[in-house]
Amino acid sequence: MRGGEKKFLIVPAVEPGRGGGHLVRSLRLVQELRSQGAEAYLFSRPSAGVNLPGTEGLLLPPEMGEQSIPWTAIVLDRFQTSPEEFHRWSALGPLVGIDEGGPERGAFDFLIDCLPPPPGFSPANLADPALLFLPKNRRPHFMRIPQPSDGETGPLRVLITLGSEDAQALSVPSALSLARVKGLEVSLLLGPRNPLLTTEDYEDRVVKPLTALGIRILLPQNDLAEHLAEYDLVVTHFGLTAFEAAHARLPVLLVSPTAYHQRLALSRGFYSAGLGRRAAARLNAHLGGFSLDLQRLARIAEKTAAAAPVPAATAASAPVPETASDPETETAPVTEIAPETGDTLSSLIGSFDFVSRARCPLCADRNATASSVLRRLNDRTYRRCGACGMVYMVRPKSPPIQYEERYFFEDYKKQYGKTYLEDFPNLRRMARRRLGVIQGIVQKNGLFPVPPALQVPPGSAPKPSPTPVSGGGQRVPGLLDIGCAYGAFLAEARDWGFDCRGIDPAEDAVSYVVKELRIPAQRGFFPSPDTVRDLPSQGFDVVSLWYVIEHLSDLGEALQGASKILRPRGLLALATPSFSGISGRFRPAAFLRSSPPDHWTLWEPGRTKKILRRYGFALAKIVVTGHHPERFPLLGPLIKEPRGPLYGILYGLSRLFRLGDTFEVYAVKMNEVPHG
Ligand SMILES: [Zn+2]
Repeated sequence: MRGGEKKFLIVPAVEPGRGGGHLVRSLRLVQELRSQGAEAYLFSRPSAGVNLPGTEGLLLPPEMGEQSIPWTAIVLDRFQTSPEEFHRWSALGPLVGIDEGGPERGAFDFLIDCLPPPPGFSPANLADPALLFLPKNRRPHFMRIPQPSDGETGPLRVLITLGSEDAQALSVPSALSLARVKGLEVSLLLGPRNPLLTTEDYEDRVVKPLTALGIRILLPQNDLAEHLAEYDLVVTHFGLTAFEAAHARLPVLLVSPTAYHQRLALSRGFYSAGLGRRAAARLNAHLGGFSLDLQRLARIAEKTAAAAPVPAATAASAPVPETASDPETETAPVTEIAPETGDTLSSLIGSFDFVSRARCPLCADRNATASSVLRRLNDRTYRRCGACGMVYMVRPKSPPIQYEERYFFEDYKKQYGKTYLEDFPNLRRMARRRLGVIQGIVQKNGLFPVPPALQVPPGSAPKPSPTPVSGGGQRVPGLLDIGCAYGAFLAEARDWGFDCRGIDPAEDAVSYVVKELRIPAQRGFFPSPDTVRDLPSQGFDVVSLWYVIEHLSDLGEALQGASKILRPRGLLALATPSFSGISGRFRPAAFLRSSPPDHWTLWEPGRTKKILRRYGFALAKIVVTGHHPERFPLLGPLIKEPRGPLYGILYGLSRLFRLGDTFEVYAVKMNEVPHG
């Protein structure tokens, strides 16, 4: 997908009382996504009154209508998203949450924590402070303690910045308190929606009295982060500014507007003066009462720096070259966190395509709250659909897999210890067993004319007949193997009297089937229209997909496609990993972590009948395979001999309770699938 085809909507927090830092970050995200060639917009309700400079041209024009655009992703940078907001956006596209702390945190399609979340929060997909947009301007050292000898005897510069609105009105008490400390130069930055700015007689009632006490009043600025290094101490509340300041190597003193902020501040190890106006009015006490206690300030800085996780250098913001750093004066050890991904927030989000649209691949359900999240990994999220029960994968980026020669030779060998062709005799043996099952179902139900070679008692090997036999004017049943690889199943099925055909994306596999086995095969992806168009129009009696169905991102479309090319009362046969086998049931986390990045759906024998019925198939048989007694919890490791008594007991249990890690499904096409 080209960058220009991607469409991102960034929804910042612009409600009363929410952090202005999120808005600044969202603006930057929109700008950087656009510079990568994507279409990106900032969303703001007209009533929210975004009045920061720099939003011109970045907002989604009202006439475009956010509901009519197929968003690649909708990014919520909202601090705490309400359930109403969540549902509204969730219906419109894949939802990415940044530093989300609201009640729907667990329901997002993909979660990114730039700031470390408080303890007890469900884990995000990615947690990496290196994804913060951090200031380039940093002080060379954490501390600037003026010494009489170094000639630097000016006052220490303190910046007070308490959010875009400062809903708890902590700014003025904080400034008044610090103005009483000798040796400080206090600057107060008023956020863009601070009510003081719209006070009647603003000059007389706000500016003059504060200025008279030596307090400088600063007006809102977009690039505050880059100016932090001009100060010696920042007073703020828990949020992006606190982390930016720590990154710029400034001591940070927090005062909390809400109990939630206070909890976050303490859990992240920031030094906090406490909660509310009372704490703000007593800020001076934390700096040594009415006279500045430099040693105390130094200790605060040290404490803050040691506790706050500050990434040292990120691709997002290479630090300015540092002046010679003397380890002796570097009093505060700064936690250095190497960026795990090497991504910036915008390059990461810009790489997202959400090919499966983060929908249930069976019922296209986008009710993200009803579908529960089973597991979040760095590159994907596993959910169980609340409507149909299917377990499916949400991937922001397409899986990095190509079904070329390499897959069959290298990847296959890695997984099974031998190349696909080396495994051919084994695969033929497995094919014989599967054809035996098919034969049984066909004969029992009288599904279609049984080819001569198939007319043997179930269980005994058929007489090979290298070419399809059309005995007595009987038509030869057709079989299509989707994902046929090098044709082990096709070769066996031909011997059983089927008119065979194969499809596979790998060119060398297809050419092997055509040239070496002399069985018609075509290169392609199923159920893409290009592939289906080339198939014989009379349809097939058997369509098989051995370990293929989980690779198809649109499962509903695949089952519909299979139904379309099957004759009435034709047989669908497939094999797939089982999520309710011994591994999926008892070690689900490990199972999901090791599930290949292109397995879009995870099947369970117990739910298969209902799923297939929706697509007009009647389940004929399930064969649970992949029994692994040694994987049983507790007892498995106790197995002494590979075929001993304990092995036998566990094997029996595995069969009885269908605990194999893979299974095969055989189903008969009963109805045409309703289109839609
Ligand atoms: Zn579903």
